[in-house]
Amino acid sequence: MRKKNLHIRLFLVLFLTLLMFQNCSKDTLEPEKEQLKITPVVEQLTRMGFDIDNIKETKNSYIVEGDLVFSKNIEDYNNYSDNFERQAHSDNTVGLNGTTPRIINVYSKITDPGGVISQDPNPWLIPITNAISDWNTVIDDSCLQFVLVNHAQNADIKIISDMDPESPDVLPSNYLGRAGLPDSNMDPFGYVYINLDFTNTDTSPPSNNQMRNIIIHEIGHCVGFVHTDQSSSTGGYNPIPGTPINDPNSVMNAFIVGQNSLGFSNYDAVAVDYLYGGCTNIIINPITSINGPAQLCSGQATYTLTGATVADWHVSTNLNIVSENGNTVTVELAHNGAVIGGTYVEAQLSNGDLVRRNISTGSPTPSGSAVISGPNLLKYYQTGAFSTSSSNFSSYTNVEWVVFSYSFPNAGQYFDIRQNYNNDFFTEVEVLPTAPEGFYTVQCRVSNNCGTFYIDKQFEVKKARPQFYDVLD
Ligand SMILES: [Zn+2]
Repeated sequence: MRKKNLHIRLFLVLFLTLLMFQNCSKDTLEPEKEQLKITPVVEQLTRMGFDIDNIKETKNSYIVEGDLVFSKNIEDYNNYSDNFERQAHSDNTVGLNGTTPRIINVYSKITDPGGVISQDPNPWLIPITNAISDWNTVIDDSCLQFVLVNHAQNADIKIISDMDPESPDVLPSNYLGRAGLPDSNMDPFGYVYINLDFTNTDTSPPSNNQMRNIIIHEIGHCVGFVHTDQSSSTGGYNPIPGTPINDPNSVMNAFIVGQNSLGFSNYDAVAVDYLYGGCTNIIINPITSINGPAQLCSGQATYTLTGATVADWHVSTNLNIVSENGNTVTVELAHNGAVIGGTYVEAQLSNGDLVRRNISTGSPTPSGSAVISGPNLLKYYQTGAFSTSSSNFSSYTNVEWVVFSYSFPNAGQYFDIRQNYNNDFFTEVEVLPTAPEGFYTVQCRVSNNCGTFYIDKQFEVKKARPQFYDVLD
């Protein structure tokens, strides 16, 4: 898939070398300041996606974007005329590990039960689920596989409201979403910001298709696609071979919101294949292929794959394989660490394909002696920081902090409890001056569908003693 690109680079290197030899026999290259003449080569360069303002003509060549050298002979472009076109990617893309797909965990705070949108049904749930499925099926050998996970822990991309404290700013009302490009560590950009107040020109809320398109589009930015219809200056603009100058159906056009078509265009698929094609096929969560319980709260569960021959079974780190026999595997929970990237059983088929079934797992039983650390004594107006570690819990979907007392009913009213947005396992508790002196308990409630686990810490509340000052007169 990168072959054409290689040819182009080879061409550039050869041409640069040629230029160096030429330069040796002459003195300096005088920069020419007159206005750029529009020649067939200049037209060609603009078709290749370069901004005309960034093309400089020198005596023997064109210098593009400061450091790219191109031949002045139009015949040198014969083999490349159709290659440089308009779907484009940023300078940084997502790092891959050979032919094994990279799993990208996506967490949506806006559809989290009890999360930002309390409406039932949550209007974003189906568009987000569909958008992730679209990304997983745009090509059949994608090296990016997206999993919608149910907690921010270990998420690669978080979908949050633009009003969320984690969002750098609030989006203007006519913007539906925002995202960024992969970083130099070759990780996806970490956020998709959604404007939940968005209304379109008819002052109606976005349609399901608009929501689905915007999620596909913003995830596209997160993994390194820039706008198809705009030469982006920040983050680079690297045209993708085999895509046309205009693709009105591209999901990566800017102003995607107004678009009627749904999902990826054929050339979007070409672009995804160019950057991320060539991996072993993983089929995420094919409910019809691996049969067994959707939830494993305790004990063991048996899964059976039908319709193909299983060569080997794999499981996520928080499961143990009890036994496996051909197309059947029996697993149990292993409470020896945090869940990395969700819980699943995965069958490797005899043809090499991987079929994965995501399951939700046990109650959030702590691995060992999970404790809350924090102060033993708090005085009026003092704020205490209490925390425990997420690594104590095998799986969870919700974390809540409360303060109660065996002596005082409704003790929560005496405290201002501020749960941290970035770390569910950290909270600040301020003592209000209405609190009776005595002993209270701060409790961390960690729960999922299988149950709730509580950890407690007791602390004492005392009145603040009045301050006494020496009076010197
Ligand atoms: Zn965009």
